Amino acid sequence: MPEPVIGCLALQGCVDRHRPHIEAAGASFKAVKTAKQFDEIDAFILPGGESTTMLKLIENFDLWDILSQQFAAKPVWGICAGSILLAEIVENPAQKSFGVLPVTAIRNGYGRQLESEIIAVDGYDVSFIRAPILTKPASRVEILHTRNGEPTWIRDGKNMASTFHPELTFDFPSPMHSMFVEIVKKTATA
Ligand code: GLN
Repeated sequence: MPEPVIGCLALQGCVDRHRPHIEAAGASFKAVKTAKQFDEIDAFILPGGESTTMLKLIENFDLWDILSQQFAAKPVWGICAGSILLAEIVENPAQKSFGVLPVTAIRNGYGRQLESEIIAVDGYDVSFIRAPILTKPASRVEILHTRNGEPTWIRDGKNMASTFHPELTFDFPSPMHSMFVEIVKKTATA
């Protein structure tokens, strides 16, 4: 297949840092924020940022229904705030979510900004920034990494979530971007 196009929802949060990782992993990158642009991409990254703000912007721009349809059809990777938006249940406090991933997200589960830190995952440095804790994954969910016994990187078929940011590390591509591009390529040919 031609190089898949991975779109990153560019309403708020950490978007452009994904480009060099996606390109090094063998795909094209596009920042997207309109329904027309969504039709031009093969998969989504829901970036890290502030989930409450992203939620408000999604609703203000009337993108909820179109994004739900897109996530049903295409692979999606939620990062930190993005993983919160994808979870089935959100706590601390509760908020609306797309329910794409059968897992509960506890916002700011590791504490406040001072508890943010860089940790090596599979030998690759990633940043936990006011990250959520993912808990109670459905049994079908593949756990790719845990921290203190709770999943930080999961895969459910065509979808993926990580509570950490791999895109901030200048070593391209990250193993997480490589895996997501592989998932997208396999989904496209399935
Ligand atoms: N704490 C943020 C939230 O609840 C997520 C932080 C991040 O994406 N780095 O949305």
